[in-house]
Amino acid sequence: MAAVLEERNTGDATHTDQQQPIPFLMNDKAGALRTTASADEMRDLGREQGLDLDIISTTSPEDTQETIARLVRNGATQIAVAGGDGTVACAVQALAGTGVTLGIVAQGTANNFATALRLPQDLPSALRVLKDGVAREVDLGRIGDLYFTESAGIGLFADAMVLQDPTDKSVLRTLWTAFRVLSSARARRVKLYIDGELHTERAVMCEVANSFRMGYAMPMAPEAKLTDGVLDVVIVGDLKLHEVIPYFRAMKAQLHHTLPKVQVLKAKEVRIESRHTINVHCDDAVIGTTPVTISVAPRALKVLVDRL
Ligand SMILES: [Mg+2]
Repeated sequence: MAAVLEERNTGDATHTDQQQPIPFLMNDKAGALRTTASADEMRDLGREQGLDLDIISTTSPEDTQETIARLVRNGATQIAVAGGDGTVACAVQALAGTGVTLGIVAQGTANNFATALRLPQDLPSALRVLKDGVAREVDLGRIGDLYFTESAGIGLFADAMVLQDPTDKSVLRTLWTAFRVLSSARARRVKLYIDGELHTERAVMCEVANSFRMGYAMPMAPEAKLTDGVLDVVIVGDLKLHEVIPYFRAMKAQLHHTLPKVQVLKAKEVRIESRHTINVHCDDAVIGTTPVTISVAPRALKVLVDRL
C-alpha cells in the first residue's frame, strides 16, 4: 500500500485517484435566452466548491456524444455536462448501460430532466451536487438503440416537431406552429399494444413518458417516476377543436388526466400501429413513422442527485 501511495505522489502531487479532475463538457449554445458561464468562470466556480473540473468545450450534439463515448472507453467513472435537455439527451446515448455516472449542470431553458431529478438549477448549487451528490440508477425509455429521457410518441407534439426546428425557440415561431398544429388537429385510429394487450383508440396524441415533463416544460405525465421500472402512457382521445385549449390549460395545472378523453396507463412496452403512417418523435426529434415499439430501459442511467 505504501508503495502505491508513494507512486501516486511522485506524479502530479495534487491528484490522487480520489481527486481526478472531473471531465466537464460545456455546450456554449445551450440556453440561447440565458447567459451561461464561460469556461473560465465555470472552472473558478467549481474551484470555490472544491471541485477540479477538466473543462471540455463541445461544438455540437454529435461532438458531445462522441467525446463522452471516448471518455467512457478511456475509463472515466464520472462525467459532467452543462447544458439543456438536448445536451443531456446526447450524453445519455453514450452513457446508458455503462455504469458511468452522469453529473448534470442544468443550463437550458426547460431543464425537464434535471427538474424530474430534483436537481438545483442555480450554478453554485448544481456544482455542489457534483461534489456532494449521490449516484442513483434511473430508468430511461428506448426505441431500438435510441434512448430517451422525457417522452416519445405520436400526434400533436410529433406533428409540431415536423413543422418547427427545435433550435428555433422564438415565441412567435412557436405560437405559429402551435396554431397550425392545433387548428388542424385530428384524431387517428391507432392500435396500441400495451404490454401486449390491444387497445384500439381514436387519439390526437399518445405520449409514452419516462419523466413528468416534456418540450417547453409541459407536465405531460405528472405522476411519472424515474425509478418505478415502467413508462406512463398518456392517451388523449378524439378532442374537438373547442376542447384543445381547455385540454392544454388542464395540462398546465397537471389535471388533464382527470378529463374524460384522457387515459393514463403504465407499461413496460408500448407498440403503436396505424393504417396510415404517423410521425413518431423521441424527445425533441422526429425519428420516423409508425409502427414503433417504445420500451422502458430500467435503471439504465447512473446519475448524480442531491442528498436529501
Ligand atoms: Mg417510470
